[in-house]
Amino acid sequence: MSEQQFDIVIVGGGPVGMALALALRDYDLTVLLLEARALPEKVDDPRPLALSHGSQLILQRLGIWKNLVQSTPITTIHISNHGHFGHVILTPEDAGVPALGYVVNYHDLYHSMGRMVREGSNLDYQTNALVTAVRTDLPLAQVTYQQHGMTRQVRAKLLVLADGGKLAEQIDGIEYQTHDYQQTAIVANVRAELPQPGTAYERFTLNGPLALLPSGDEYALVWTMPIAEAAKKLKLDDSHFLQQLHEQFGDRMGNFTHVGQRSSFPLILKHASGIAGHRAVLIGNAAQTLHPVAGQGFNLGLRDAWELASEISRVPPDTPGEPGSARMLAAYSRRRQSDKRTSRIFTDSLVKLFTVDLSLVQSCSSLGLTALDCLPPAKRLVAHQMIFGTKGWFIG
Ligand SMILES: Cc1cc2nc3c(=O)[nH]c(=O)nc-3n(C[C@H](O)[C@H](O)[C@H](O)COP(=O)(O)OP(=O)(O)OC[C@H]3O[C@@H](n4cnc5c(N)ncnc54)[C@H](O)[C@@H]3O)c2cc1C
Repeated sequence: MSEQQFDIVIVGGGPVGMALALALRDYDLTVLLLEARALPEKVDDPRPLALSHGSQLILQRLGIWKNLVQSTPITTIHISNHGHFGHVILTPEDAGVPALGYVVNYHDLYHSMGRMVREGSNLDYQTNALVTAVRTDLPLAQVTYQQHGMTRQVRAKLLVLADGGKLAEQIDGIEYQTHDYQQTAIVANVRAELPQPGTAYERFTLNGPLALLPSGDEYALVWTMPIAEAAKKLKLDDSHFLQQLHEQFGDRMGNFTHVGQRSSFPLILKHASGIAGHRAVLIGNAAQTLHPVAGQGFNLGLRDAWELASEISRVPPDTPGEPGSARMLAAYSRRRQSDKRTSRIFTDSLVKLFTVDLSLVQSCSSLGLTALDCLPPAKRLVAHQMIFGTKGWFIG
């Protein structure tokens, strides 16, 4: 079998893999992007993505932002704790940005990126290409994939896994630490009697966090709860579902009047202890899969893609062994360490702090929310983590 060679092979053309491909399109590099699914237009994924201000700046830089069908600005974030007093309100003034973030739909973003990747003249984009094996024990990385009944093999100076985390265990030295939250997220679009345009709600309940994100004139619901509870909720008729949602959310937007199709997602925390191996690196959900509370996962994955492209661009293209040398990958890993660690601890602590059924802890959490609301520097810190990640980013 003849093996074509590329500078970079990206496995997984989800939003993070495509962002990296787009960030690399102007460099003098040969890039192959392999995606198991069919063309993005055929993919329907209903999950909403709350994009931070930092992510919006990256998507603008990549030329994706202007092609998005719809994005709804978040002008207020309201955080509360079910059954307890205390809440926090974050506004753009807390962080000095025009909007706290934007809500887009996964498939809208995926479709726009797909169109742009197809137009990228120096990108080789292959869909229906299921990668079955990767090897990193050879001088160059080797990738085997199946496409239209054929088996193909390619080599890469740098293999980037952006596949959500299925193939990394084939790479020497990469191990995951996993925690199963034993929770499911139910996702659906809902309408309310008294919508509050621009306000995103994050409400902590003993069962798990519940988010309502403004999406056009509707709200995108992400409601997390124990697996058995979610199975019951998914079977409810619409009116009982909306009634139970109202019981958990309260009266802030009056009654809920409509719910669209409901989907569910299992929730785990998974992160690789090291993100690089010989001529290989993990980005996005392949490097870390987080609980969706506070909408950090894609934002963090997008920063992975952006920073990797920037690390690659620092080295002149004809440098022997680049891209993908041990030195380059070590520099990238160092650069990403603190942002990843903080985002992981931030989301995991939020889930654990607000779902422990101990009245003292619960009261402290509520006191914490009140205190946070009264302390501008602390609020600014939380706002910055949600908006930029650890580094207080500015993509200037
Ligand atoms: C309910 C829910 C709500 C969320 N809300 C938010 C939010 O508000 N904000 C936020 O920032 N994040 C959010 N997230 C997280 C976000 O969805 C993920 O972080 C993001 O989708 C990760 O993108 P990715 O490209 O790394 O992985 P994925 O989206 O999983 O894409 C991986 C791609 O790799 C392909 N692939 C897999 N295996 C192979 C293979 N063997 N060969 C070839 N291709 C392969 C897949 O087909 C897929 O296209 C949410 C997640 C959930 C579950």
